[in-house]
Amino acid sequence: MPMADDKQRLDSLQSWLASTHGTVLKTAMEIPEPAGTSPEWKAILDNFGVEPLSDQERAETVRNGTMARGAPLVEIQRVLGLLASNGTAALEKVDWSSDDPAVSRQWDRLRTTLINLVNDSMAAYKAKVLVKRSMFAMAKASMNNPEYQPKQQGSMAVLLLCSNCGGPRLTDGKFECDYCGTHFKD
Ligand SMILES: [Zn+2]
Repeated sequence: MPMADDKQRLDSLQSWLASTHGTVLKTAMEIPEPAGTSPEWKAILDNFGVEPLSDQERAETVRNGTMARGAPLVEIQRVLGLLASNGTAALEKVDWSSDDPAVSRQWDRLRTTLINLVNDSMAAYKAKVLVKRSMFAMAKASMNNPEYQPKQQGSMAVLLLCSNCGGPRLTDGKFECDYCGTHFKD
């Protein structure tokens, strides 16, 4: 039954991609220090064979003051690039010219997600970890007025994951999971 095999391979590829993608982004974002790291993030870099930044490069990134938190952009970009290329290579081994239109649709959706994976994820990541202009304004306001209480920034690094497959929600305007199509619950 080659058709059932392809469906199975597609399903397991999809669930691996979704959960890995979600975990990569969440782990990188949850690092509280700018250009920082964590044991969980080190394990991901190790898994993908990505060399971490040197302490000197890390210190330079901190000094230029563009990051508020999270793993360095270069590190996550390399991990996402490898995830997308490994995923694409695996997807191309699955026969999509199946008679089952649901399988073809699933193949197409996965292909589109993979094509956009690096760009969409980097945009989402930057929105969560880079210093915002409004934060400069807040810092200035608090310097001029010691009583000034900056607004809580805690929600900044929260990433919503699909309750079904663990895929990340990359933009607030998205209502369905890119991987499995499940509706996101706010
Ligand atoms: Zn999902």
